[in-house]
Amino acid sequence: MKRRSFLIIILLCVLTQGILALPKVHVIATGGTIAGTSSGSGYTAGQVTIDNILAAVPDLSKIAELDYEQFCNIGSQDMNETIWLSLSKRINELFATGKYDGIVITHGTDTMEETAYFLNLTTRSDKPVVLVGSMRPSDAPDADGPKNLIVAVKAAADKKNVGKEVMCCLNQKLFEASGVFKNNSRDVDAFAAIKPDYTMPHGSKVGFDVTEVEKLPNVGIIYGYAGCSTLPLQAFVDANFEGVVLVGVGDGNFRADVQKIAEKAVAHGMKIVRSTRCPHGGVYTEGGEVEDLELGFIAAGSLNAQKARILLMLALTQTKDTDQIRQYFNKPIALQTVKK
Ligand code: GLU
Repeated sequence: MKRRSFLIIILLCVLTQGILALPKVHVIATGGTIAGTSSGSGYTAGQVTIDNILAAVPDLSKIAELDYEQFCNIGSQDMNETIWLSLSKRINELFATGKYDGIVITHGTDTMEETAYFLNLTTRSDKPVVLVGSMRPSDAPDADGPKNLIVAVKAAADKKNVGKEVMCCLNQKLFEASGVFKNNSRDVDAFAAIKPDYTMPHGSKVGFDVTEVEKLPNVGIIYGYAGCSTLPLQAFVDANFEGVVLVGVGDGNFRADVQKIAEKAVAHGMKIVRSTRCPHGGVYTEGGEVEDLELGFIAAGSLNAQKARILLMLALTQTKDTDQIRQYFNKPIALQTVKK
């Protein structure tokens, strides 16, 4: 009898511990204004380390058990493909341990949408990944980082967010990777979202497996305007870039002499994706002024230029076939293993 009561007590202890145990979230710090401090007439991003950032928000410890690491400490204008690749590999490694319910990444807001989109296409777990930033530096009296961090850690710890896209958190709001963009250069409510053609929650069966990849193909972006110069596109052609995203005016249109260079570039194997400088509406093959199918161009759909560039880089690790690349732009992508 005694033995039975003892076993029941042990069982109850184990069960309550299981119920009361906090979710486990790993925080990866990359810099940004959330790690910035005031300086001169403004501030400098990426100054404070993650231990200090987390220590300033003691309430986080009531939401989740936190581990953390300082991955880099930069303004996100300095984010690049090499960091994206190692960040993606690190996230896959952390989830593979089975220890974590979610991952939070502190990040500058300037390029957060790009990192989120890249990670959404390349991370292999369906557990929540949430990028978080702020528009005011950490030492500002009205710093927005702490409240955003609370929302981000809660979201990463929440089972309801399993099976969503990689998310971005700003102004205590959450946005999924495909639609989010930085809409305001100054306001704390800096992010907005378009309705994407499709969403593609990250997971084991979608996207690109970049485990073996050390470098992505060179793909550039060119911005269109009235009187647009041919020089930038010619420079990318001369430098043998594998692809260029044209940020066209309106429905993805480009001045005739720029378009002529693009047509020639396509004939020599370069991939040209047409996007638009309009935040809404996207660019599609049907119903516009440019005959994409005849000229060999690819329409970006609802993706903005910076995200279209990421998709083109990853697509080019798989194929040089324009029709196949068009497919990647048109619908969710079944898992592609990228060869070294
Ligand atoms: N340039 C900084 C960055 O992206 C400032 C933007 C921010 O973090 O809000 O890291």
